[in-house]
Amino acid sequence: MANPVIERERLYGAHNYEPLPVVLTRGEGVYVWDDAGKRYIDMMSAYSAVSHGHCHPRLVKVLKEQAEQLNIVSRAFYTDKLGPFLERVCELTGFEKALPMNTGAEAVETALKAARKWAYSVKGVEADQAEVIACAGNFHGRTITVVSMSTEPQYRAGFGPFTPGFKIIPYGDVSALENAITPRTAAFLVEPIKGEGGIVVPPEGYLKACEAICRQHNVLMICDEIQTGLGRTGKLLAYQHEAIQPDGVVLGKALGGGILPVSLFLTRREVMDVFTPGDHGSTFGGNPLAAAVGKAALDLLMEDQLIERAARMGDYFQAQLKRLVSPLIKDVRGKGLLIGLEIDEKYPARILCLKLLQHGVLTRDTHGTVIRFAPPLIITEEQIDTAVSALQKVLAEADAEVKEKQ
Ligand SMILES: *Cc1c(COP(=O)(O)O)cnc(C)c1O
Repeated sequence: MANPVIERERLYGAHNYEPLPVVLTRGEGVYVWDDAGKRYIDMMSAYSAVSHGHCHPRLVKVLKEQAEQLNIVSRAFYTDKLGPFLERVCELTGFEKALPMNTGAEAVETALKAARKWAYSVKGVEADQAEVIACAGNFHGRTITVVSMSTEPQYRAGFGPFTPGFKIIPYGDVSALENAITPRTAAFLVEPIKGEGGIVVPPEGYLKACEAICRQHNVLMICDEIQTGLGRTGKLLAYQHEAIQPDGVVLGKALGGGILPVSLFLTRREVMDVFTPGDHGSTFGGNPLAAAVGKAALDLLMEDQLIERAARMGDYFQAQLKRLVSPLIKDVRGKGLLIGLEIDEKYPARILCLKLLQHGVLTRDTHGTVIRFAPPLIITEEQIDTAVSALQKVLAEADAEVKEKQ
């Protein structure tokens, strides 16, 4: 590879990623620039972490001001920033309590710990017997406990032994949930739309039916909204499309305003109160810098009406994608600005992403066949049009290549 920056990263870094060959040096709004000054439109938003756009001036201002004031003190002391952040997120989501972490996987682990302890101390499950039900094709993060729930062979191979206590059921299948529940079931953990699993939208009414079953059997329903939450799908939380009220929710990614890792587990008082001092924690979780940026990210989401915007622009984007004519397109799906374009397996989606890169559009495939379109929520119709016309060109090139081979 010619670029020395890429060579250095490859030489000294672990090869746990395979980035597209572009070196990014700057970002602003929906755009990023490479080391040669070429501009790209960002259709990835760091897997939804950059919903507010790159380097949002208001968030950068909050970051700078807080950075000069106070950053890390650990949770051994109170700070003036954590309370207001937690209050704001509870107010917005309707949950009573929130526990701050940094990354998504940590917040998922927090949800699992809360559910297990709740099962023992409130539901009355026998010690060490609690089970959590998760769905096939899930993505909840990369720690050993979290990949213990994964059904993706590569996420697991070579990393065993795994944490016991998980049961896997097919996604979108209500009776599978009902059949999997036993008196030992603590929780059902579910993504309202599968993100890394290929932007998979479950059948309408699925979440509502799962909620009813969980209620009936005294099982906690916990939604992983790390990717779908905070406006991405056109609602504050994606489960609101079905007007349900789960027992808990996990947030991350966009909560950090595209600047810092900030995550939370939110739940009812009865569940959160299972934690007592010393049970669980994180040196950095809830630090004043993260809390200040997290609160500002929430405020901005509401004040700039980014949720309504995601709904409107998402409809527009999907409509434009559905008008594209190519034998390679198998499906266009998603909600709001979380959109997947499924490509026929006979053409590698990764190659399409490489071609899009040349046309100034950044995105990645998930699962080899689905191209993700999840731009910052601030995107405009004109910017969507630009990306769609680049896609149109790239698909035409690919169609021609496929025909030539035949
Ligand atoms: C990204 C993601 C996670 C993991 O978040 P990290 O910050 O990478 O640990 C968990 N669940 C879902 C649904 C995600 O999209």
